[in-house]
Amino acid sequence: MKIARFSHQETLRYGIIDDGELVVLEGDPLFAGFDTTGERIPLTEVTLLAPVIPRSKVVCIGKNYHDHAAEMGGEAPAEPLMFLKPNTSVIGPDDVIVRPTAVSSRTDYEGEVAVVIGRIAKNVPAERSLDYVFGYTVANDVTARDLQSRDGQWTRAKGFDTFCPVGPVIETDLDTDAAVITTRVNGEVRQNGPMSDMIHSVPDLIAYASAVFTLLPGDLILTGTPAGIGPFEAGDTVEVEVSGIGVLRNTVRDA
Ligand code: MG
Repeated sequence: MKIARFSHQETLRYGIIDDGELVVLEGDPLFAGFDTTGERIPLTEVTLLAPVIPRSKVVCIGKNYHDHAAEMGGEAPAEPLMFLKPNTSVIGPDDVIVRPTAVSSRTDYEGEVAVVIGRIAKNVPAERSLDYVFGYTVANDVTARDLQSRDGQWTRAKGFDTFCPVGPVIETDLDTDAAVITTRVNGEVRQNGPMSDMIHSVPDLIAYASAVFTLLPGDLILTGTPAGIGPFEAGDTVEVEVSGIGVLRNTVRDA
């Protein structure tokens, strides 16, 4: 099932995508379930928004693919390397990524799969952690690469407004063994890696994160990027596609 959050006639709605239309839901399915209003709205008449705005946090995992860890100049970490992005960095499909050119000269894409947490999770064992997953969406862990090394920690480099595009929808039944992440800049493929190459699995990441802090419904876990990271410039179109979910497309401008 593909869940969208969208605006229609200046009203925020949620819906299930079915045959080119949205089956409108009564409320946010994360909290209100899947009761429908009986309305159907063509996809062509709506603007898709970020399918979720986390109320508390975006958890991210660094260097979770061997080939990406190697391109960053090191071994993959033995334990998940975890950091946070502020929820104010989240934007939706077709929104504009703003490069902070006053303080940074290189802004990179990182195509990733994001887990959407569906239930309050604390100290959840890996064997049961998938029970806490609402679904999966596509994310771009946008990074000011020069600031990442200069600052020694990643809060600024990963945390600018617009640095967390997510969408276009949440897929509740993703086949994570088959999903492939592909990133394109102006149509040219830059990243192409299967989710099955992930070092620390989704169940292990939820267990690891929930042992540190409570995960709340709507929190996201960005699960890491495959090899092929690189910069983009003002005027570029950056697309991250995850097979089984969809294409997250954003344009870029300078601040
Ligand atoms: Mg990343």
